[in-house]
Amino acid sequence: MPSPSVPPKRKPKPERSLAGRFPGLADEWDPALNDGVTAWDVSPSSKMRPVWTCSTCGHRWRTLVRNRALPQEGTNGACPPCAGVAAGPLRNLARSRPDLASEWHPTRNGDLTPSTVTPQSARLAWWYCEPHGYAWRAKVAHRYRGGDRCAECVRAEPLPESVAYVRLFST
Ligand SMILES: [Zn+2]
Ligand SMILES: [Zn+2]
Repeated sequence: MPSPSVPPKRKPKPERSLAGRFPGLADEWDPALNDGVTAWDVSPSSKMRPVWTCSTCGHRWRTLVRNRALPQEGTNGACPPCAGVAAGPLRNLARSRPDLASEWHPTRNGDLTPSTVTPQSARLAWWYCEPHGYAWRAKVAHRYRGGDRCAECVRAEPLPESVAYVRLFST
């Protein structure tokens, strides 16, 4: 990862530092990932953009210290996967729907994998049904909601009961 964008100029007093005022945020701060800078070295209003490690899901991301310590309207420093806006170790298609992940096209999706998309993602992905050798494109969210299945799988399904009933009595 690149180094933090704005290193702190001078240390705040311990009781006024990020670690002194927000111990919970200090727990998500690893000096080893931030060029040795610690949560004691910055104030809560700092514009430094360190790497955070979510204590809930383990995801790592960057956001300004002030976005996390002093969130204002329009700035939300929360962990993206936990906030539901990005895939992470606990929130991704591979984890929530292994059945759909098994139909993920092995070669046509570039860097996108079932572990890097959320189940509700609007991204278009390629899918592959192995039994039918059928490849198609569909939005992840549509598939998650049960739509956009392999056309051959849908065709192979038995007729609904009502159709069979009508046939029985129409002869
Ligand atoms: Zn998280
Ligand atoms: Zn199929």
